[in-house]
Amino acid sequence: MIKVTNLRKQFNDLVVLDGIDIEVAQGEVVAIIGPSGSGKSTLLRCLNLLESPDAGRIEIGQATLDAPKYSRKQAHHLRQQTAMVFQNYNLFKNRTALQNVTESLIITKKMKQSEADKIGRALLEQVGLAHKADSYPITLSGGQQQRVAIARALAVDPHAILLDEPTSALDPELVAEVLQVIKAIAEKRTTMLIVTHEMAFARQVADRIIFMADGKIVEQGTPDELFDRPQNPRTQRFLQQIS
Ligand code: ATP
Ligand code: MG
Repeated sequence: MIKVTNLRKQFNDLVVLDGIDIEVAQGEVVAIIGPSGSGKSTLLRCLNLLESPDAGRIEIGQATLDAPKYSRKQAHHLRQQTAMVFQNYNLFKNRTALQNVTESLIITKKMKQSEADKIGRALLEQVGLAHKADSYPITLSGGQQQRVAIARALAVDPHAILLDEPTSALDPELVAEVLQVIKAIAEKRTTMLIVTHEMAFARQVADRIIFMADGKIVEQGTPDELFDRPQNPRTQRFLQQIS
């Protein structure tokens, strides 16, 4: 479960998150769409405190945090509830695919190497990369690197996974394999919040779509409601522009 109440963030005079309220149920997959600069990445980054929110309450899994005043312990606890998948994979370049996946198990969860490797190999298998366990990121395609990053996110068994445009840095022919992996994870009812500009994918994978503009949630609904019968003129204009 993710619950965000009145989340606010500004950079100097620029209000980027203008009172965001979101609820994502356990096992629900929610896609966030919206124009460039509307605050989508900032929202995800606030949820794991890569940015510090100015105000609002964030509840994820077992953790609750009230911005802007919170303890290190509360921050640590909140961060532990999520794993993030970025546009640019952010893999450790000097570690193999397997080592990238097991790193957090060994360092954070203090797992034995053999046990971590076993979990790591199973996760690589899940993203179709069992045969690349010993490969270094530089020798992998963008799609393969992103799949390693997804396996790494799954490794910590987070309460929710946050994905920020997971396919937008990929060559078009590599997008499908990554979307397929995300779709398979979604089907296992992992709670996910996905920022994407792949509307066809959002429609297929998400239970609900949120349309954001100017730091606010303008409209939300099921994929059919939002894509086929958008109510707000702002949503209608956005969907017309991108189609
Ligand atoms: P895109 O679709 O292009 O990725 P977005 O919806 O993810 O856009 P954000 O990256 O959240 O948008 O940015 C929202 C606004 O906040 C933008 O105007 C951006 O320039 C500004 N912004 C983001 N991060 C910072 C920062 N660290 N310092 C100052 N301004 C920032
Ligand atoms: Mg962004």
